[in-house]
Amino acid sequence: MIHLEFNSESENEGIARVVAAAYMMRFDPTVEEMADVKTAVSEAVTNSIVHAYTDKEGKIIFDISSVENIIKITVEDFGIGISDIKKAMEPMYTTKAEEERTGMGFSFMEAFMDEVQVISKPAKGTKVIMTKMIGGNENLHG
Ligand code: ATP
Ligand code: MG
Repeated sequence: MIHLEFNSESENEGIARVVAAAYMMRFDPTVEEMADVKTAVSEAVTNSIVHAYTDKEGKIIFDISSVENIIKITVEDFGIGISDIKKAMEPMYTTKAEEERTGMGFSFMEAFMDEVQVISKPAKGTKVIMTKMIGGNENLHG
């Protein structure tokens, strides 16, 4: 497994994305699987940077592990949290429309990963847990 802790600087989003891509290589991912995971990581980490710690800096914890060819990625912050998780995950729901956010981050995570779980508590923080099977369709294509 990999365990990273970094500050909520926007530059660190790219580092998380590259680490996830490097970790996935052992499962011989398709180009599409690689792109899917990188996008999901990017959306989750960006949320912690722009929403959790609005105008201060805070810590983000990023973990990747796997069981056989199912990877599990966790992105955790200790920021403002989300009061209504169900609503926050609806397509096009955003609290930052004025900053040209489209409210599609969680929708992308759900579309590109097999499972997305969000645990959050106002003023405590948010944890996003995502899993995806890599190379799972190999047998279907002979
Ligand atoms: P986009 O991702 O399209 O740029 P967005 O970030 O607003 O826009 P989502 O990623 O779907 O859209 O998130 C929806 C809403 O959930 C956000 O507007 C924000 O209010 C809340 N949210 C998401 N992640 C966090 C977080 N880590 N901490 C606090 N609030 C969050
Ligand atoms: Mg977002």
